[in-house]
Amino acid sequence: MSPGFEFTVPVLVVGGGACGCIAALSAREAGGEVLLVEQDERPMGSTGMSQGLICAAGTKSQAEHGIQDDAERYYADIMAKTLGLTDPVLARTIADHAGPTVDWMVEALDMPWQLDTGFRPAYGNSAYRVHGWRGHSGQDMVDLLHRRLDDAGIDVVLGARLSEVHADEEGRILGVSLSRPDGSVEHVGCGALVLACGGFAADHAMVARYMPEMAHARNNGHEGSRGTAVHVGEQLGAQLGDMGAYQGYAMLTEPQGIPVPPGVPVEGGVLVNMAGERFVDETADIAGMVHPVLAQEGEHVWVVFDDRIEAAADYIPEMQQLKALNALKKADSVPELAEMIGVPANTLQAALDATRSAHSSRMADPTGRIWGDDLPPAAPYRALKVVGAIFHTQGGLQIDGEARVVRPDGTPLPNLFAGGGAARSVSGPAHWGYLPAMGLATAVTFGRLAGRAAARIARPSAQAELSDR
Ligand SMILES: Cc1cc2nc3c(=O)[nH]c(=O)nc-3n(C[C@H](O)[C@H](O)[C@H](O)COP(=O)(O)OP(=O)(O)OC[C@H]3O[C@@H](n4cnc5c(N)ncnc54)[C@H](O)[C@@H]3O)c2cc1C
Repeated sequence: MSPGFEFTVPVLVVGGGACGCIAALSAREAGGEVLLVEQDERPMGSTGMSQGLICAAGTKSQAEHGIQDDAERYYADIMAKTLGLTDPVLARTIADHAGPTVDWMVEALDMPWQLDTGFRPAYGNSAYRVHGWRGHSGQDMVDLLHRRLDDAGIDVVLGARLSEVHADEEGRILGVSLSRPDGSVEHVGCGALVLACGGFAADHAMVARYMPEMAHARNNGHEGSRGTAVHVGEQLGAQLGDMGAYQGYAMLTEPQGIPVPPGVPVEGGVLVNMAGERFVDETADIAGMVHPVLAQEGEHVWVVFDDRIEAAADYIPEMQQLKALNALKKADSVPELAEMIGVPANTLQAALDATRSAHSSRMADPTGRIWGDDLPPAAPYRALKVVGAIFHTQGGLQIDGEARVVRPDGTPLPNLFAGGGAARSVSGPAHWGYLPAMGLATAVTFGRLAGRAAARIARPSAQAELSDR
C-alpha cells in the first residue's frame, strides 16, 4: 500500500553524482519536470572522489587531435578486455553513446571536457580515448554539474535519503519515501524513477557476499555507496548482473589516501615490494593489479618512478596534492632510495637493472612487461608508499540499452531506470575487466539515456496510457 504522497513529480532522480545530474539535465532537455534528491548535504559521491575522466570514442575532441577511433573499435576493446563475458547490449550502448554524450556535455552543458593527451592508450584502451577537465578534480565536476542543474532551474533536495520505494503489483513505481536528517520522512510520488545512487563498495556485508576476496581490503570509495539500488531491485524482482565485478586499485598512497595517477606506471613507474623486488607487469591490468599488491608480504609496497615521470603527471591534481603533502620520497641513487624506503639495496638495484636490460634488448622483463620505447625509472628517483583498495563496484541492476531496469525474463519494469554505479556495467564478472575511465563513462552515458527515456514515459499522455492498462 502506498502512503499519501505529499506531492508528485514526473521524473524523480535519486543520487547527485555524475549519473544523477546528467539524468536530470537530460530529462529536462527532453521536456520533463524533474526533482533530484541526494542524501548528502554536500553532493560528492564517488564522482567527487574520481579524477573526472571519461572513456569515450568518436568525440569531436579526438577528431581535433587527429585520433582515429570509433564505436566499433571501442566495442571491440570492451569485449576483448572482458573476454567476451560482458553484456554485449550494454557494451554496444556504451560504445555508441559515450562519445555523443561527451560531445553533448561539452556543447550543450558547456563542460570543458577534452581528450586527455597525457593518458596514453593503456590497460585495454587501444586509442587515446580518455577525456577530462585538465587540472581539475572529480569534485570540480560535481560542483559544475550542480551549477548546471541550478542554471536549468532543476529542483534539488539535499539531505534526503531514499529509504523506501512504493510500487504496484506490476512493479510500477508510484513514489518513494525520503528520510531527512531530523528523522522526518516525506512521501513523494513520481511518474518515473531513475536510480543513480551508486554501488555498494561501502557496504561491508555486500562486499563480503559478492566479492569475498575483497572483504578485508580498504574501501576508498564513497561512504554513500551502500547498495540502495540493489535493495530496491531485490524488492521489485529485478535482475542483478555481474555482482562480483569491481575496480580494485593497487596504488592508494599510505597514509595520504590519495590515488597515484595511472599515468605514473604507464609512463614507466614500477611497483616494488618490501624485499625490493618487482612482482607484476604494471601495464597489464589497472584494476586487477590490486591482487598481486595485496598478496605481498608486509603492509604496503612502493611505486618507484623518477623526476621525468613526476613532471609528466604534474598537471594532475592528485600529483599536486601528493607534492604539497611532501609525500614523495626523493633520492639521487638506488642505495639512497633503498635506505629511504627500507628495502634491500641489492635486490632493488637488480630489479631496476632488469628493467633497463629489458628496455635495451626489447625483450620482456621478468614480470612480462615489454618496455618498447618507454623508459624505465632512472636517477633522480621518486617513490610513493601505496596499498591496495577497492574503489567502486561494477555490478548491479540489469538494465537494457535504454537504461530500463529489467526482470530475469528480460522484460523491463514499467518506469524504473538506472545507470552508473547502481547498474551492471561493462566490466565482466570480476576484477579484471575494467577499462580505465569506464565508471564515469557508464554514469554519464546511461544517465543521459535514462533521463531522456524517463522524461518520455513520464509525460502526462504516457502516464494516462499506462494507467489505462
Ligand atoms: C578514488 C576514485 C577515483 C575514480 N576515478 C575515476 C575516473 O577518473 N574515471 C572513471 O570513469 N571512474 C572513476 N572512478 C569511478 C567513478 O567515480 C564512479 O564509477 C562514478 O562516479 C559513479 O557515478 P554515479 O553517479 O553512479 O555514483 P556516485 O558519484 O557515487 O553518486 C551516487 C550518489 O547517490 C547518493 N546516494 C546513495 N544512496 C542514496 C540514497 N539512498 N538516497 C539518496 N541519495 C543516495 C550518494 O550519496 C552519491 O552522492 C573512481 C572512483 C574512485 C573511488
